[in-house]
Amino acid sequence: MSRSWNFYAGPATLPLAALERARDEMLEWEGTGMSVMETSHRSKEYDAIHHQAMDLFRELLGLDDDHVVLFLGGGASTQFAMVPMNFIPPGGSADYVITGSWSQKALKEANIVARGRAAGTSEAAGFTRIPRQQDLELDPAAAYVHITSNNTIKGTQWHDFPDTGEVPLVADMSSDLLWRPFDANRFALIYAGAQKNLGPAGVTVVIVRRSWVERANPGLPTMLAYATHLGKESLYNTPPCFAVYMLRNVLEWVKRTGGLEAMERRNRLKGDRLYGVIEAHPGFYRCPVEPDSRSYMNVVWRLPSEELEATFVQEATKLGMYGLKGHRSVGGCRASIYNAMEPEGVEALAEFMERFAKAHG
Ligand code: PMP
Repeated sequence: MSRSWNFYAGPATLPLAALERARDEMLEWEGTGMSVMETSHRSKEYDAIHHQAMDLFRELLGLDDDHVVLFLGGGASTQFAMVPMNFIPPGGSADYVITGSWSQKALKEANIVARGRAAGTSEAAGFTRIPRQQDLELDPAAAYVHITSNNTIKGTQWHDFPDTGEVPLVADMSSDLLWRPFDANRFALIYAGAQKNLGPAGVTVVIVRRSWVERANPGLPTMLAYATHLGKESLYNTPPCFAVYMLRNVLEWVKRTGGLEAMERRNRLKGDRLYGVIEAHPGFYRCPVEPDSRSYMNVVWRLPSEELEATFVQEATKLGMYGLKGHRSVGGCRASIYNAMEPEGVEALAEFMERFAKAHG
């Protein structure tokens, strides 16, 4: 078997142990003589996995009793609409901090179903940094403040979350949830599409305060009301069972590897290694992101020309390093190095970058 080093931004590389477990259990699982995919979501075997995945989240994040974990469909993009539908009261509005195209999309949806306003943006700086607290103009009457904790395309990341006072804080953590320990209980709602740091595509994780959901807008379509899913522990309708199973396998791996402290140590080493190579070749590689806003999940950089960037990506691919092309909207190069990316993969990339700079610099 030869596994490549997969730097795709999402769907992304998964821990080998999580995949191997799925392989071993594919045809015959828990003595049922069938696969998880073929099993009723009402069976006791599936129920055990579903709740184990929820409990692992609670444990890894140290959630308090008011916070619940939900597994929904529709991707993070559906959350862009569900959050404002549920939580902006009639006549109210919510604040959005704009740090790239995902937050722009979230604000756009808020303005379709209710009203949202940009309470800060780093657009003038080309989204190459995270706004500072003093750059934000927060409305104390806002229904909530929404941030995107990690900007997958621009390669920026919030390292200190903003102080929103009494206003509930909501975060799209699609591309960095579980990358390090943090106080999740400070957040009224966190959502994340699984396909980057958590598992395969198909399941969206929502962590929300029960007491906030109890005050959500009434009269919403059943599937779009958080209260529906909360009341039924995400088993109102058929959940994405296989994706939840894989998520459980990934969470088990996170726990066995040492939890979020271990993830942070591993991720900082990987990110520092790549930023180190970029900094060591200032005339050749250039990271457009300001140092204190750099992401430890998506490292972006430019080469002296687009031709060289194309050659770089081509040569890397020949060496079994996939997914290094930057997002089509920004160009350049990007290495997505989520939790599951092994340090050896980053080392292989770093050494290739050094050789490439020597050969072409
Ligand atoms: N938010 C962020 C930060 C993302 O990176 C993405 C996907 N790349 C999304 C939202 C959209 O997620 P989905 O495709 O699950 O709707």
